[in-house]
Amino acid sequence: MKFADRISRLGTETAFDVLAKVNELKAQGKSIISFSIGEPDFNTPENIKKAGKDAIDRNETHYKPANGIPELREVIAQKSFELRGVKIDPSEVVVTPGAKPILFHTMHALVNEGDEVIYVNPGFPIYESVINFLNGKPVPLPLVEEKEFSCDIDTLKKLITPRTKLLIINSPHNPTGGSLSRSDLEAIAGLAMKHDFYVMSDEVYHRFCFDSKFETISSIPGMKERTIIVDGCSKTYAMTGWRIGWGIMPQELAKVVTRMIINSDSCTAAFTQYAAIEALRGDQSESYKMAEEFKARRDLIVGLLNDIKGVKCLKAKGAFYVFPNVTEACRNLGFKDSRELQDYLLYKAGVAVLSRTCFGSKNVGEKDEYIRLSYATSREQIVEGLKRMKDAIENKR
Ligand code: PLP
Repeated sequence: MKFADRISRLGTETAFDVLAKVNELKAQGKSIISFSIGEPDFNTPENIKKAGKDAIDRNETHYKPANGIPELREVIAQKSFELRGVKIDPSEVVVTPGAKPILFHTMHALVNEGDEVIYVNPGFPIYESVINFLNGKPVPLPLVEEKEFSCDIDTLKKLITPRTKLLIINSPHNPTGGSLSRSDLEAIAGLAMKHDFYVMSDEVYHRFCFDSKFETISSIPGMKERTIIVDGCSKTYAMTGWRIGWGIMPQELAKVVTRMIINSDSCTAAFTQYAAIEALRGDQSESYKMAEEFKARRDLIVGLLNDIKGVKCLKAKGAFYVFPNVTEACRNLGFKDSRELQDYLLYKAGVAVLSRTCFGSKNVGEKDEYIRLSYATSREQIVEGLKRMKDAIENKR
């Protein structure tokens, strides 16, 4: 087919390729332990499922307003105020099928050809993909291990130019588990206001902050007007398949994003929105229990990784990922990069992990090798998977 030129610039999430390989190997009867998947292994809590089913039984199965039903937008505004301490009007909330469409639509609304967009790298691969798709200029902001994968403000300063339109941050962070401190956010906010650019703050992992309280750039005076908050139910309430997320943004932008939705999705599924109202307003104990369990697994997996020769792992601060440095392990095994280690672990040890480049191209001068492990899997699987990894890394097959 003769595709439009822009299609050649559209990237993907290679995590889905690894998932396909895992499923193929499992179908062949192989035992695979997967640390590749970026979704909670818990089920959606019962009260939320019931709210969704009740909505279907009430025949809430028709079109709804493109920006979301008013009751849900009100709850989001209220709960966001409780979490972030920033007053939000429901007209500043746009509901979408998952958090991803907020990234897609707001970037379409803001980024012109040639506009520079700074984004965290390593990072969620969709950021870079959409910037390229729009013919914007992707400007990676390196997150480095020496800074515990938070951002280096001097490096950021050097990347800003008069064409900088948008900065994308994500805290707690996929894939490193790092997070931005209040002082990092204050410094970033100062730069955004001085140089007049917008900030997209991807906060989908806000419930999973293990050692300190969640911080958001939107609560810094002067920032609400230039911040787009990306959030949703996928991670917080184990609802990835329901497809429900939202953005909180200036009203002017919310109107444009709503028009984008009218052109693309019409609206988010009605019963899903009622389930989200229950998720936000109802009992939070299941979600907090999940966060507690992730913290215990973080401690377990970090300990086991650091016990493997040639692997060094920081204690991740949030989300449900760890990003160990495997430079020495790659060297010992004779691998050129973590991609080769990824394949070796999958095919020889039956362990699925994702290599560094699943999260963006390496930064200039980046020499170390990393892999991402998601610990959204049971403690038994973590123990067994790490035993296999230790054996495969320490005794080459
Ligand atoms: N942002 C980040 C950083 C993510 O890791 C993900 C999902 O993996 C998303 C956004 C998308 O979430 P959703 O499933 O709600 O579209």
